[in-house]
Amino acid sequence: MAIQEASAYFSRELLSWYQRGNRNLPWRRNKDPYRIWVSEIMLQQTRVDTVIPYFERFMAKFPTVQALAEAPEEEVLKSWEGLGYYSRARNLQAGARMVMSLYGGIIPDDKAAVAGLKGVGPYTAGAIMSIAFNRPEPAVDGNVMRVLSRYFCLEDDIAKPKTRVGIEKLAASLIPEGAAGDFNQALMELGALVCTPKSPSCLPCPVMEHCEARLQGRETELPIKTKAKPPRHEYRVAVIVRGSGERADQVLLRQRPENGLLAQMWELPHVLSDDPSGEWFREEAPKEDARLAESLGRELERETGLLIRPTGWLVDEEHVFSHIHWHMRVYVADLGPSEISRGNSLAAESGLAYETGQAQGPYRWMGREALDTLPFPNVFLRILERYWS
Ligand code: SF4
Repeated sequence: MAIQEASAYFSRELLSWYQRGNRNLPWRRNKDPYRIWVSEIMLQQTRVDTVIPYFERFMAKFPTVQALAEAPEEEVLKSWEGLGYYSRARNLQAGARMVMSLYGGIIPDDKAAVAGLKGVGPYTAGAIMSIAFNRPEPAVDGNVMRVLSRYFCLEDDIAKPKTRVGIEKLAASLIPEGAAGDFNQALMELGALVCTPKSPSCLPCPVMEHCEARLQGRETELPIKTKAKPPRHEYRVAVIVRGSGERADQVLLRQRPENGLLAQMWELPHVLSDDPSGEWFREEAPKEDARLAESLGRELERETGLLIRPTGWLVDEEHVFSHIHWHMRVYVADLGPSEISRGNSLAAESGLAYETGQAQGPYRWMGREALDTLPFPNVFLRILERYWS
C-alpha cells in the first residue's frame, strides 16, 4: 500500500475508533485548557489510574489558574505528594503565575505563548493546543512514537531528538482536518490501551490491517530505543531524632534547599555514605552495633551541626528516582543530653534554636500532624508513617 493511502487509512480508522467510544477520564469532561494542562503534567511518567484521584483533589483545591498561582508553594507540593517528579508541580505553579502576569489569567490560544510557559515542553504545548483549542498541532510522547514507529515500521532510535522531530512532522501530517483534539487523544489512547510496549493487542487494533510492523511480524521489535543509563546507587543513613519532655511526640525534620532534587520538600536529617561497601551498609554489619552508631553520630554531627546519638535501627527503605536509586538505612536517635551546652553553640551555628526547643531555619520539631501539612518525598513519608504507626 502506498504511504499516502496507509496514512489516510490510519487517520480515518483511528479517529473513528476513538469517536465510537473512549475512556471517561475526568479531564475529558470539558475543553478547559487549565484542566488539560494540569492533567498532561500529571500524566508525564505517571499512570492514568494513579493520576485520577490526584487530579480530582488538585482541581478541587486549585480550580482555576488564579487559585494555583496564589497558593503557597508548600500547599501545591503537598497536593502533589506521592506523584513524584516534584519539579513538575513547581513548574506548573510558575507557569500559572506567568499566565496571571502575562495573559490576565487566561491561557492564550497561541502556540508560542503556551510553549513559553514554565514546564511546558513540545508535547504538552501540542496537547493543550490540540485538545483545548483544536489546533492541528502534534502531541508526541513515548506512546505516540511507539505506535507510529510500529505502524510505519520506522527503525530510527526514538531516544534521539532527531527521531522525535521526524515523528512530530509525521504526526502533524496525519491530523484529520478539524479533529486535532480527538485524533491526538486517539493516538495516545491506542498507545496506552492497545499498542502497549511489551504485548501489543494487534487483533482488536483498529489499524491492524495496514500496520507494517504487524505485517512483518516485528511489532515487539519496534520501536528501537537505546537504553537509558541505569540509575546511580546512593547509600544514605537517616535518623528519626526524637524530642524529649513536652516534645516527646515530636521528631526533628528539615527542609531541603530551594533548588535541586526534591527542592523545598521536608525530610529526615541524613547523610550520604560514600562507600556502599563501607561499614554502615555491609551485609554482615550488625545494625545495632554501638561502634557504628558512634561513627554515624560523628558523621551526622558534621552534616547537621547537632549532637545526634543513634540509639537503634528502625528500618531499611529504597527509593528509585529516574536517575538515582536511594538505599536508606534509618535509625532512631536522641539529641545528646549531657552535651547540651555544646549542642547550643553548634545549634546556633546551624540556625537551630536548641535552647528554647524551637527549631528554626531549615529544621522544625513536628509531631504526626506533619504528615498532613508538610510535603514529603515518598520515601520519608513511608518511614514516618511506619514510625508513627
Ligand atoms: S497492529 Fe499491533 S503493532 Fe500495529 S499499531 Fe496495532 S497494536 Fe500496534
